[in-house]
Amino acid sequence: MNLSIKGYSTALFATWYFVEELGLLFDGGDGLMAGLLQKSRKINHAFISHADRDHLGGLLQFNQLNARDGAPFIYYPKDCGSFPNLERFFEKFDPHMAGTVWQSIVSGEEIEIKDNIVVKAFRNEHVPCASGMNKSLSFKVYEKKRKLKQEFLSMPKNELKDIIVNKGREFVTEEIATNILSYSGDTPVDDLSKWEGTKLLIHEATFLEKLEKHPERANRHSVIDEVFEMLSHSKVEKVILGHFSSRYSSSEIDKKVRELSEKYALDIPIYCVYPGEIFQQKITV
Ligand SMILES: [Zn+2]
Repeated sequence: MNLSIKGYSTALFATWYFVEELGLLFDGGDGLMAGLLQKSRKINHAFISHADRDHLGGLLQFNQLNARDGAPFIYYPKDCGSFPNLERFFEKFDPHMAGTVWQSIVSGEEIEIKDNIVVKAFRNEHVPCASGMNKSLSFKVYEKKRKLKQEFLSMPKNELKDIIVNKGREFVTEEIATNILSYSGDTPVDDLSKWEGTKLLIHEATFLEKLEKHPERANRHSVIDEVFEMLSHSKVEKVILGHFSSRYSSSEIDKKVRELSEKYALDIPIYCVYPGEIFQQKITV
C-alpha cells in the first residue's frame, strides 16, 4: 500500500500529519489547514494525541471549513477536559458548522476508519497521570485481512469448497492484522518493544542530546539516541522522525542521524521532518 504523508512537526509550535489514502489525521496543530488547503476535506478521522496546544491549535479552522453532516470524527484521550470545552466553544463560535463528531477514546480501544483498517490507541507517558487515566495516547493502524488457515493450504479445491459451503468461509480462514503505520504522539521512549513489527513508524525525537539542565522536560519527550536504541531492538521497517526542537538545524539533525545509524548499525529508510518545514512523501508499506 502507498501512503502519501504530509505533515509538520516542530516541538512547541505545531504538529500534524495527514495520511491521504486513509483519510486520516494525527494531531491538529496550527498550520494544518494552511498546509493542506482543499485536501483537508479528505480527512474523515482525526486522532489527537493529547491536549497540548501545539497539537490542537488548527482544529478551529479545520472544523469551520470541513464540518459536514456526521463528519469528520475527532477522537481525543478521554480524561483531557480541554476537548469537551473546545467542542462547546466551537458550537457557540461557529453554530452554522454542526456535524463534527467529538469522541473520547481510551487506551486499548479500536476504531474502524475504513473497511479492514482500524486505529488502536495506546497510553504513553508524556502526561504523568494515574494508571487507568487517559491523557496522552499513541496510535497503531492495522490492516486486517482474512487468510486461509495453515491446515487448509494444501487441501484440494473441491474439498475446500465443500467445507466452505457447509461451515462457512470463517471456518477455514483466520484474521491477520498487519501494523502498517504507527504514530508515537509526544512521548518518552518508555518501552523498547512497543513498536515491534510496524511497517512505518512516525516517532518524535525532540532532543538531539540529553538536557542536563531541564531533566523534567526531557523526561516527557524522546532523546534521539533513545529512539535509535529502541529502533535497533525492534523490527520497524521505515521511520519518520519529527517533533525536533527548533533549536536544531536540518544539517545538525542529518549529522546526528548519520552518527546514530552507524552507532546502532541501523539500515532502514529514515525520513526527517525538519523544524519549520512541511514534510511530504509517498511511502510504500
Ligand atoms: Zn508537542
